[in-house]
Amino acid sequence: MTSQPLAIKNGRVIDPAQDLDRTCDVLLEDGRVAAVGPGLGLGTEGRQVVDAAGLWVLPGLIDAHVHLREPGHEYKEDLASGLAAAAAGGFTAVLAMPNTSPPVDQAGLVASLLSKAKGLRGARLLQSAAMTRGLRGQELTEYAELREAGAVAVTDDGRWVADSAVMRRVLCYARVCGLAALSHAQEGPLSDGGQIHEGRVSTRLGLRGIPAEAEAVAVYRDLALARLTGAPVHVCHVSSALSLDLVRRFKAGGTRVTCETAPHYLFLTDEDVAGYDTCRKMNPPLRTAADLEALREGIRDGTIDLVATDHAPHSVLEKEVEFMDAAFGVIGLETALPLIHGLMAELSLPPSRLVELMSLRPAGLLGLPLGTLRPGSAADLTLFDPQAAFKYDVGTSLSKSRNSPFQGREMRGRVVRTVVGGRTVFAAGAGDRG
Ligand SMILES: [Zn+2]
Repeated sequence: MTSQPLAIKNGRVIDPAQDLDRTCDVLLEDGRVAAVGPGLGLGTEGRQVVDAAGLWVLPGLIDAHVHLREPGHEYKEDLASGLAAAAAGGFTAVLAMPNTSPPVDQAGLVASLLSKAKGLRGARLLQSAAMTRGLRGQELTEYAELREAGAVAVTDDGRWVADSAVMRRVLCYARVCGLAALSHAQEGPLSDGGQIHEGRVSTRLGLRGIPAEAEAVAVYRDLALARLTGAPVHVCHVSSALSLDLVRRFKAGGTRVTCETAPHYLFLTDEDVAGYDTCRKMNPPLRTAADLEALREGIRDGTIDLVATDHAPHSVLEKEVEFMDAAFGVIGLETALPLIHGLMAELSLPPSRLVELMSLRPAGLLGLPLGTLRPGSAADLTLFDPQAAFKYDVGTSLSKSRNSPFQGREMRGRVVRTVVGGRTVFAAGAGDRG
C-alpha cells in the first residue's frame, strides 16, 4: 500500500522487551525500526505521518499456531486469504501447521510455500514442518534440510507422536537443528471417536466424550521426555486444568517447557456446545468452567507462555452437517486480539502482558528476533484502538471460512493498521472491511 517510510506519532508504545509503555513516536526506515522516543521526526520530509493519538502501538503480533490449508484444501483457506486475515487481526507473522495435503514434510515444499508467501500482501509466513514423515509418527523428517529451507519448527499437529522412543529422538534432533518442537498432546485411543469434552454435558447430549485425561497423559509423557533429554518442548493448545498443572510443576522443577492456549478455551466451555453448534467443535474440545478458570489463572501466573489461535478454517461442507460428522476446528485470526484485550481488563493485567502473550513469547519460542520495536528490529507493528466497541460479524472476515465460535459477540478494540517490514498490509476502512 505504501513504500514511503512511516512516522507513527503520539501512540502509546507498549514494548515489554524494552520495558517501555509510554506515549511516543516510532520512525520506520528501510523495513526496520529506526528510532523510538518522544518528539521524533518533526518535519521529516518524505515520510508518511500516521497520527496514532489514542492508539496502542504494539510490536507486530505473532500467531504460533494456524492452519492455512495450502496445499490441498485451498477452498477452505490459502496463503493469500490466510495471511490477509492474519493482517486484519493485527498479526504480522503466523506459523503455519504442516498437516496439509500432502503434509509439509520435505524441504522443497517448505521453500516453495515461503517463496510464494513473499509475493502476498499480509502477515509474514512462518512455516513449520512435520516431525515425522507423513505425520505417521515413525521416521523423523530431515531436520537439517528443513531448517535450511526456512522451517522454524517441527510438529505433527493434529496427531500425537505416540512412540516415546521416536519422540525422544524428535526432541534431541530438533534442539540440535534449532527447531522448536511443538506437541499436539492428545493420546489417541482415549480420545478416538470423541466429539466433545467427556463430562456431564456429553452425557446429557448423548455424545461420546474426550476426557481431559487424554490430554494430560500425553502432556505428562512429553514433559517427562523433555526432562530426560534436557531438550525443550512446547505443548500446543492446553485446554484443561489437569494438563496445566503438570506444566506448572515441571516448569517449577526446571524442565524446559513452554505452552500455549487458544482464546476459545479462555472464553467458552462445554456448556456452550449444548446447542450442537458445530462452530464450537474443536480438538482439544471446550472443557468445563473450572478448566476455563484454571487457564485464566495460568495466564495470570505466567504458566501459559503464549496465546495462539489454532485458526482452523472449514467450509460449510465440513460444518453445516450433523454434529457427529462435523470437522474439528474454528477460525480465530480476527477475534484473538480484541478477546485477549478484554481478558487483560477482566484479569486486571497490563497491556504489556498481552504483548508478551501474543508477540514477544511466540517470537522467543520460534527463535526469531521479532516481538519488539527496539531500533534495528524489523518494522512489524500493530496499531490498535483499545476503545472501539463492535459486534463481531464473521461475514466481514477476510478468511475464506466462516466457522467462528464468536459470531455476534460484543468486543472492544480494533486493529487500525498492520505494518510488516515497514509496509502497511492492512488498514481499517481502506476497503479491506465491509
Ligand atoms: Zn493441534
